[in-house]
Amino acid sequence: MKNLLGGKGANLAEMCLLGLPVPAGFTITTECCTDYYENNCELPEGLMEQVWDGMRKAEQVMGTKYGDKDNCMLVSCRSGARSSMPGMMDTVLNIGLCSETIPGLIKKTDNPRFVYDSYRRLIMMYADVVMEKAEGIEPVDGVGIRKILDDVLDEYKESKSYKSDTELTSEDLQFLATEFKTIIKNKLGVEFPDDATKQLEGGIKAVFKSWNGKKAVAYRRIEGIPDDWGTAVNVQAMAFGNTGDGSATGVAFTRNPATGENLFYGEWLKNAQGEDVVAGIRTPNPLNDDTKNEQNKHLVSMQEDMPETYKELCEIRTILENNFRDMLDIEFTIQDGKLYMLQCRVGKRTGVAALTMAMDMFKEGRIDEKEVIRRVSPTQLDELLHPILDSKDEAKHTVVAKGLPAGPGGALGVIALTSEEAMRLQKAGIANVLVREETNPEDVEGMRAADGILTARGGMTSHAALVARGWGKCCIVGCEALQINMENKTVTIGEKTYKEGDILCLNGTKGLVYDEKVAMINATENPLFQEFMQIVDKYRTMGVRTNADTPEDTEQALKFGAEGIGLFRIEHMFYGKNSEAPLAILRKMILSGSTEERKKWLNELQVYIKQSVKGTMKVMNGKPVTFRLIDPPLHEFVPHTEDKVAQLAEELGIKVSELKDRIEGLKEVNPMMGLRGVRLGIIYPEISETQFRALFEAEAELRKEGNDPHLEIMVPLTVSVTELKHQKEICDRVHAEVESAMGAKINYLYGTMIEIPRATLVADEIATVADFFSFGTNDLTQMTFGFSRDDVNSIIGEYKEKKILPADPFQTLDQEGVGQLVKLGVERGRNTKPQLKVGVCGEHGGDPESVEFFFKAGMNYVSCSPFRLPLARLAAAQAAVGK
Ligand code: PEP
Ligand code: MG
Repeated sequence: MKNLLGGKGANLAEMCLLGLPVPAGFTITTECCTDYYENNCELPEGLMEQVWDGMRKAEQVMGTKYGDKDNCMLVSCRSGARSSMPGMMDTVLNIGLCSETIPGLIKKTDNPRFVYDSYRRLIMMYADVVMEKAEGIEPVDGVGIRKILDDVLDEYKESKSYKSDTELTSEDLQFLATEFKTIIKNKLGVEFPDDATKQLEGGIKAVFKSWNGKKAVAYRRIEGIPDDWGTAVNVQAMAFGNTGDGSATGVAFTRNPATGENLFYGEWLKNAQGEDVVAGIRTPNPLNDDTKNEQNKHLVSMQEDMPETYKELCEIRTILENNFRDMLDIEFTIQDGKLYMLQCRVGKRTGVAALTMAMDMFKEGRIDEKEVIRRVSPTQLDELLHPILDSKDEAKHTVVAKGLPAGPGGALGVIALTSEEAMRLQKAGIANVLVREETNPEDVEGMRAADGILTARGGMTSHAALVARGWGKCCIVGCEALQINMENKTVTIGEKTYKEGDILCLNGTKGLVYDEKVAMINATENPLFQEFMQIVDKYRTMGVRTNADTPEDTEQALKFGAEGIGLFRIEHMFYGKNSEAPLAILRKMILSGSTEERKKWLNELQVYIKQSVKGTMKVMNGKPVTFRLIDPPLHEFVPHTEDKVAQLAEELGIKVSELKDRIEGLKEVNPMMGLRGVRLGIIYPEISETQFRALFEAEAELRKEGNDPHLEIMVPLTVSVTELKHQKEICDRVHAEVESAMGAKINYLYGTMIEIPRATLVADEIATVADFFSFGTNDLTQMTFGFSRDDVNSIIGEYKEKKILPADPFQTLDQEGVGQLVKLGVERGRNTKPQLKVGVCGEHGGDPESVEFFFKAGMNYVSCSPFRLPLARLAAAQAAVGK
């Protein structure tokens, strides 16, 4: 249903079936939108006839008539895609108000103020959405018609010393409506249509058009929503929240979307229309006691002000949760005491809330374990692994401002006052906090680029708050102490003034702002997280290992559920902490003048290799550890600075010029396709021999010391079975020698990486020698695309922008191309050895979408960095339980 009616349309239909009070209306399908675009932006043939049929039915239900001069029905045209895109597309309300219908409506309602308020809103929205945006008019100086009209409204209010819109009288509003129409004619060159029929057609087209509006397109790119889905249009009779003090409008969540607590949570405004709540124009009132906070506790709640209607709304909350078995985000309007439901959809939530709600609903018996697994997305789980402010350290700092806690977690970064600046900083790798006056969906890309978002205005349900929460961004809105001066590019809070580049630190869970760095901690200690992961592991069938090469990383990985190490890169002992001594020996080995000399240095190096592998294998006791032979081109390790070269020449007892010649001799034009991987071991067998010896000795020693090591040896970059056989001969010989020297039985597996297209093609032969395969999808992607993994970033950026590629193939596996090779490699390998153990150790092993693919390809395990393990476990479980 959702695909055809869009989320909003399908749920409106569902609410009708549940007998809830929904204003009459109908939905124009997403197919019509697709048709509209395929048809050069013409409405599909016969559509308007069907629309008028639908209108006649709605009129019957509502007892009013569209365009009628005595008893007119007004309608809204609202967008609604398959998956929710909050605030990214357009909506027009109060359609049908014109000279013909206004007098009758005034007479009927005896409320001219309400009628003119609705009229000026229609004019503002229609001019913006239908007459400007849908017509593709680029506003002069970036100042659109909506802003111009808003400014006129503000100036008018100021001239009358009004503080709020509600003080505007009927005469004021009538005057403004006339003013607005003149401005529109002058600015846009066309009259505002004084014709109900034209207005409706314009509204429908404008919603279709908004599917391709800038912000909608930007949001789709970020969320990966296909362009050809299209939006539905919901045409629905208006219910009015602005007819006076007996009317109101509100937005609520059936549970708290920030924390997940099972408390009804929302905001409302009296005598207002829906857009007032979400647009952040007025600070909304709390729905009930549970929604009160520091900023809004002085404002009257609906629970206090309209207890009967509030009770009815609470009943609807229960009916909806029972029906949808999920947390819903609802919009409602009260017209003269009568409650109408305008919308409901499964609500966006933070990672913490997703986890809390899934576990609560499981305990409430609403959903089963498999559904619990489906309810938390890997991205939401990832959010839980992100840091929060350390409350102990936080207590030592002074809060400079308070706002509404719209998106939890912590953020620390420099101030960015525009979306462009936030994007620029992100590109430069600089953490930033986007500080804005109000929550504006046009900022969607900047919000994405920011580490935290802080706004002066807006409520908890404002669009920016919804979007930020959906992304798990730390976000504070409605921070009224902020004074932003865009001309001087400064932010003032009380006495203090900050400029772009100064730091701010946000506690999005509590809505607190600091102007100093506060320490952060990890959120995974949450006991619910542990409980959830137990359910995940119960249903997961594919193994999950980690890529780690130090005891510390291994310990971390074990905490995150690693079932072994899928990739220990031996060369990592030559980088970072404690690497100086072994690196010095490695350099001498690399630059040796003869095999004899090289062997001498290798003997020294062996001690370090043994020590390194032993440390990690000991921590991974009882679980497999795959050690990969040294892989990178040796030239990567040679010294480059003059003094280091001179020092090395002295240690080797040769002239600087000779050493430079040797260094020069190691240079390659395409090192990634040169002397690396197994090729090193073929050209210099002694390098492999040393590693085999270190590994076997480590195994035997650990076992003698009472441990249970599970050794796996892996050869990188293999392209042919003959390479693997060549190395196996050395391995077998060394194995026998170490076993006899140490009087021990040493078990191990001998396998290979599959990371060059040729290896996948000859996988059947390779499997005759290999006990296991591990797909190195980093290199496999590099070699399949012919993209250098170290240089390709800017190309991929452009490719994504121009839609040449849907995603970065180094992050998400290219299933169409590289994926075929992976499948082929698995199939051919298992043709030879049906029980062949197969895994993945490229970066894709921690990418949820790719993990699902690997599951389907029949992998035994994926291996990824320690912090991505929970994601990989969840993605694997989700793949096992299905959608
Ligand atoms: C790979 O190529 O996918 C791999 C894991 O090896 P590396 O990243 O070390 O080249
Ligand atoms: Mg590789």
